[in-house]
Amino acid sequence: MKAVGIDLGTTNSEVAIVENGQVRVLPGEDGDLILPSCVGFSDAGKLLVGREALRQYAAAPERTVKSIKRWMGTDHKTILGDKEYLPHEVSAIILRALKQRAESALGETITQAVITVPAYFTDAQRQATKTAGEIAGLEVLQIINEPTAAALAYDLRSQETERVVVYDLGGGTFDVSIVEITGEVTEVLASHGNNRLGGDDFDRLLQLHLGDLFRQQHGVDVPDDAATQARLLRAAEQLKIDLSSYAFATVREAFLGSKGKTALHLETEVARADFEELIRPLLEETLEAIDRALADANLEPEDIDRVILVGGSTRIPIVQQMIEEHLGQTPTDGIQPDLCVALGAALQAGVLVGESVDAILVDVIPHSLGIAAAVSTPMGIMPGYFSVIIPRNSVVPVSRSHVYSTLVDEQEVVEIEVFQGENAIAEENVPLGSFKVENLPPKPAGGIQIEVHFDFDLNGILTVTTTEKGKGQQGRLVVNNAGMQKLSSHELKQARADLEALFASDETIDVSPKNTAVAIAPEMAPLLNRAQQLLETMDSEQAEELQDLLADIENAIANNSAQLPELQSELEDFLYYASTNESE
Ligand code: AMP
Repeated sequence: MKAVGIDLGTTNSEVAIVENGQVRVLPGEDGDLILPSCVGFSDAGKLLVGREALRQYAAAPERTVKSIKRWMGTDHKTILGDKEYLPHEVSAIILRALKQRAESALGETITQAVITVPAYFTDAQRQATKTAGEIAGLEVLQIINEPTAAALAYDLRSQETERVVVYDLGGGTFDVSIVEITGEVTEVLASHGNNRLGGDDFDRLLQLHLGDLFRQQHGVDVPDDAATQARLLRAAEQLKIDLSSYAFATVREAFLGSKGKTALHLETEVARADFEELIRPLLEETLEAIDRALADANLEPEDIDRVILVGGSTRIPIVQQMIEEHLGQTPTDGIQPDLCVALGAALQAGVLVGESVDAILVDVIPHSLGIAAAVSTPMGIMPGYFSVIIPRNSVVPVSRSHVYSTLVDEQEVVEIEVFQGENAIAEENVPLGSFKVENLPPKPAGGIQIEVHFDFDLNGILTVTTTEKGKGQQGRLVVNNAGMQKLSSHELKQARADLEALFASDETIDVSPKNTAVAIAPEMAPLLNRAQQLLETMDSEQAEELQDLLADIENAIANNSAQLPELQSELEDFLYYASTNESE
């Protein structure tokens, strides 16, 4: 008898299973792995669950309900059409839809499940969840905590005690838990959160921002009716998701309003940096919650062995960066953050019904992918570096982008040469193809920014696109043979360790000049120039220190190391310090 694992989330839910020793999330008929936790009735009284219900939410809120999880364990009544429902009855509808999804995908009846709940759920809330499962026709084998399930998905069952921070930022809720794992035993030491904070808030902030941009463009407000505002909110969420993989993204919403008889459209580009500023205060709150949870567990950041990220909103790059800076360690990745709770629940269900469970299999790219780039250093221009865009062992599918700028005055052409490999010198790696971005407008060096975007899909196809900032897409290259391999999580761990060792060993760089290259992130160039000027005026001790720092930066640029921002800020501090001394 098979048993499923269910992540019954506030915004989204998933169902997963162990089959032949492997665990996977089961798709719906539309192929979607995620079922929005939304229930409603259509005009004609037909029951809608998931995306269909969500679609009618803005137009028919009186017939639709979402985020019911917030009310679990209370007697809050939801009126849908002409009937009243208790929270666990609505949850039962979602669970029933997940059971059905699993049965269609597997072609057999499913009657047993493990269901997850937040660590802070009270007994009443746990009981309500169990009841919901029973109403849906499921024997609930166990209710487990979401952070425990996430840790299980990462297969952290070593005999040594590990202390793990599980940071879970979803659509509507945020939780952080400190868990201690020894062998099969996982204990939640402390847990904090805010059940009114998540990706939905980021959407609303962007929605307001887009409203402001519309007003600036057209001198009138976006109409305040529910349907138009719902369109703007949907556009905002898509923009947010695009900004997780692009440094700039464009929103186009036609006929959003009108002025007299003229229809007005919203068409604007938003920079990731602007979005980051909008959400930063909310993210600061999540860091404070981490500190509170650590204090409750009587632990310091140094006592933490691992950080794992859960929830769709942790795909936002600045979320990862801020956690990394705050805790001084890089979060472990490898499993899609919005699926890992369901995967862990399925593992637990598999164990309970006696399935033999292997490690979770993940698809990774075997070699780093990047382009040839030049860097401007105090020693002059160094071309031919391999600038890695997607590092080796990234979990597929993955998309990443970097922004480069022109290197010489009036540069008309940028050649994008794509390579795969681990050598810091581009030419030493395997060439995958190249293309040119031409007819650039005459601008001084650094005046044109080009975003290079790599998209690596589940079929091993790499698509490279370039976008000149403010101009839209310009060039494109599709590589079919970029390769992919399957690793178990143990192998992945080993591969990661190998990679670390590779980066730790020093590589000497010897390159010959070449002209059609692109340069590093734009904010770095003026810093390096300033450093070069200062080098000439410094005493030898300071100059030596600066040269060491510049060498580290060069290495970090060549390896696309995550340390670059840290080194950059060190250089900024150094230059600031040196310039205040200079003026004294
Ligand atoms: P969850 O509750 O874990 O399913 O997370 C849902 C939230 O994650 C929603 O607010 C989504 O908009 C958000 N989300 C999903 N994918 C991304 C992404 N690539 N970048 C930013 N937010 C995302």
